[in-house]
Amino acid sequence: MPRKTPEFRLGIDLGGTKIHIVVIDRKGRVVGSARTATKGERGYRIVVERIARTALEALDDADVKRKAVQVCGIGAPGPVDAAKGVLRMAPNLGWLDKPLARDLGKALGMRVVLGNDVNCGGLGEVAYGAAESAASAVAAFVGTGLGGAVIVDGRVVNGAHGYGGEIGHIPAPFGDAMCGCGMRGCLETVASKTGVLRMIRDAVAQGRKSRLDTAGTVKSSAIAKALADGCPVTKAAIDAMVDGLAWGLCAIGNVADPEVYVIGGGMAEVLGKPMLPRIAERMAATSNLYRRNRPRLVMASLGDDAVAIGAAVASGEAG
Ligand SMILES: [Zn+2]
Repeated sequence: MPRKTPEFRLGIDLGGTKIHIVVIDRKGRVVGSARTATKGERGYRIVVERIARTALEALDDADVKRKAVQVCGIGAPGPVDAAKGVLRMAPNLGWLDKPLARDLGKALGMRVVLGNDVNCGGLGEVAYGAAESAASAVAAFVGTGLGGAVIVDGRVVNGAHGYGGEIGHIPAPFGDAMCGCGMRGCLETVASKTGVLRMIRDAVAQGRKSRLDTAGTVKSSAIAKALADGCPVTKAAIDAMVDGLAWGLCAIGNVADPEVYVIGGGMAEVLGKPMLPRIAERMAATSNLYRRNRPRLVMASLGDDAVAIGAAVASGEAG
């Protein structure tokens, strides 16, 4: 029997640098929010307290009493054991095997449903964003790294070990650059902002001229500007990123055959919609499947709220 969606749902996006929390209503509209810095260097216990305090602020912002919410959701930056509510690993925070659902539940006085942040982002886009009402979707978020999510029959495929949808670490045929995970040649080494910058720096080291200043921290918007200015080195790197992304979507698509592919993340957002036909074209060139059934590609639409909204959605399902 389908359950009634709760009137208000609370969703938490726990990131390496910030905690972002939303309260959504039955239609998925954000009716309250709060955010603060994670301050992971202060340790696990303090971060849990910070999340709880910020959650109360978000409820207050929405004029919703704490007792009106029985379950909340949290998307955390690492693989999770969803059934046990354990965050298995969070490299950005230096955490291993933390019973986050239990500890945050105690601090907040409500049940907590734990998910992976990228998977929550994908779920948010399917519930109330770019892929609204699609029964199945594959989402790829191209930012500093490359994250992915697979949604089948409206539910996230978390996997037995929390690695469901980990598109970024598929061994890919695009060279053997070192990946942040310790392996070589992962898809993320080309299909991410980090990958694009590495390819541009490699080209410059080989004597090619780039319009992009790659010293220090480089914003995605600066990469997009160099591309718009006609920088050939930047164009080659972006082309390689798009080719890699299309290859990865094919790999997951051949398994999941989703209704729609959602493309998001900071790097994808600055390139925007013009990137989609090129990805579709590359997918069609990679596999016969996509020549016969042109893939439906959409840009993610929830932006910074996607993970928190998806976490709220997951809590509603678990209620
Ligand atoms: Zn990797």
